[in-house]
Amino acid sequence: MEQLVFATNNTHKLEEVQAMAGNKIKLLSLNDIGCYDDIAETGSTFNENASLKSHYIYDRYKLNCFGDDSGLEINALGNQPGIYSARYAGTHGNHEANIDKVLKKLHGLTDRSARFRTVISLMWNGAEYFFEGVVEGSIRKERSGTAGFGYDPIFQPDGYDITFAEMSMDEKNRISHRSRAVDLLVAFLKNDL
Ligand code: IMP
Repeated sequence: MEQLVFATNNTHKLEEVQAMAGNKIKLLSLNDIGCYDDIAETGSTFNENASLKSHYIYDRYKLNCFGDDSGLEINALGNQPGIYSARYAGTHGNHEANIDKVLKKLHGLTDRSARFRTVISLMWNGAEYFFEGVVEGSIRKERSGTAGFGYDPIFQPDGYDITFAEMSMDEKNRISHRSRAVDLLVAFLKNDL
């Protein structure tokens, strides 16, 4: 079976992508290959950050691998928080504070359109490939729902009247930015194996 490193230690993400990838490919986490480094996300775009992760592993371990980066882009805020989504309010991963900051900045604005974007950088037999997934939607005025994580309680995808946080995981995974990017990655791999 072909092995592929996913440059993450987020077991939830790893399991989700493994389920989509099927049994021809075995995904390994950073811990699985003995990498305990914190790969710095110092890029200025999603592509650069995803690329930093895949190159970090490829350069040191010479293994096929991929890295990802995601975030929320809000039109009225010039596509912020973008690559700063996880640390928008200052502390990495403080989702409640991040949501409060977004709601405050959008207060009184009519354009609430936004999108989630995921970029995957794959290093495959020495070449780099990018895969991107986007889901368009809008930012609610208040939180709604308790499922998911991050900005899910305030993000309503176009064509729905509920937020990501009001959807089951399956429902969200059918339309999410991440699953769209992963679908493209998996299609590429299946074609190449
Ligand atoms: P990551 O690159 O997947 O770790 O995502 C970076 C940040 O973007 C997260 O910490 C969240 O703030 C936000 N984000 C990414 N994907 C989602 C999602 O599916 N729902 C809500 N927030 C997300």
